[in-house]
Amino acid sequence: MKITDIKTASLQANFEWILVRVTTDEGLVGLGECYYGGGVETIVRRMKNVLVGEDPHNIDWLYQKMIRATSGAGSMGGAAVNAISGIEIALWDIAGQALKTPIYNLLGGRYRTAIRTYADCGHGDEPTPASWAERARGAVAKGFSAIKFDIDNIAPKRFGDPYHVSGGAGWLQGQQHPIAKGEMDLIVSLVGAVREEIGPAIDFAVDCHWNYNTRDVITLARELEPFKLMWLEDPTPPDNIEALKRVTDNSPVPICCGENHYTRHGLREMIVSQAVDIIQPDVPRVGGLLEAKKVADLADIYYMPFAAHNVSSPIATLAAAHACASMRNFMIMEFHGQDVDWWDDLVVGDPIIQDGYVTLPNKPGLGLTLNEDVARAHVRPDSTFFE
Ligand code: MG
Repeated sequence: MKITDIKTASLQANFEWILVRVTTDEGLVGLGECYYGGGVETIVRRMKNVLVGEDPHNIDWLYQKMIRATSGAGSMGGAAVNAISGIEIALWDIAGQALKTPIYNLLGGRYRTAIRTYADCGHGDEPTPASWAERARGAVAKGFSAIKFDIDNIAPKRFGDPYHVSGGAGWLQGQQHPIAKGEMDLIVSLVGAVREEIGPAIDFAVDCHWNYNTRDVITLARELEPFKLMWLEDPTPPDNIEALKRVTDNSPVPICCGENHYTRHGLREMIVSQAVDIIQPDVPRVGGLLEAKKVADLADIYYMPFAAHNVSSPIATLAAAHACASMRNFMIMEFHGQDVDWWDDLVVGDPIIQDGYVTLPNKPGLGLTLNEDVARAHVRPDSTFFE
């Protein structure tokens, strides 16, 4: 069997969902999805030069070939690895169909039959305890036993800090600001309101989105300790692993990080220095299913759980679930589509996530069928539907 073509369709939801279609000379078609980013779709299409004529079974080698074709280094990152990740997923879909078995069977078999997810809640409509409690109540009512809130976009709405306002939508990520006493008290009141609303049995994580300095976020972690959080995510910018380790070593709340890092080489230092308590790569960004499995296995040597970051459509969500099924140290996977009312409709048949769990299909490959009408209706103006 040989690869004959690679095409893309970029859909616009709450994030850009870049779908990948790989075709073969035997009629098998693989579906994948990349994490978004400038230039990703172009790189996927250009990878046709690298892959056409190759046997799609040779996934690990083709991964290396694509890495070599884009930079030549194993520790690369950015748009190129996003692109490679989506293609890699499509190759697994083809291999599974060719071998007539679900992808998880090709990754070593599964530890579990369903993948637990948590609902990303963002934040309440207003920075008030009642609004945050309402948002939490809505997610739990849908059957999720774990939720996550962002605390980084509340200060400007409340305090009107002009340095943090970004087009009125919230605050500009990438800046750092000290946590003033008023902001600290507000965060504690909002997180406390959510915990009171959901009770002790629902897991609850909080995302800092890389915005704080080490001292302030250690203080924040201590303030949030009574609320028994599942984790505190991305407390500091992701680049300095030593600084991250300082936070983790001094935080009573588990620290979770990894969505900005690429490949096993990019995540190595964070894992081996034990700079985090929980590693959190994004599967369609880190290098694909096999690379995610390799990262998970490296973390498992340090008895470190793997939480899958995920802002994808049902395609990469289910793909990541196949990889997560094969990981000994899998903890939980993100669901970030609560506000996308066509999320379930993108796939033919039953919803991918029900009562907070992804049930792994017993079908060859990924085991899903794209609803092409729904996909076509959401293609971005700067993309096409697999043309
Ligand atoms: Mg995050």
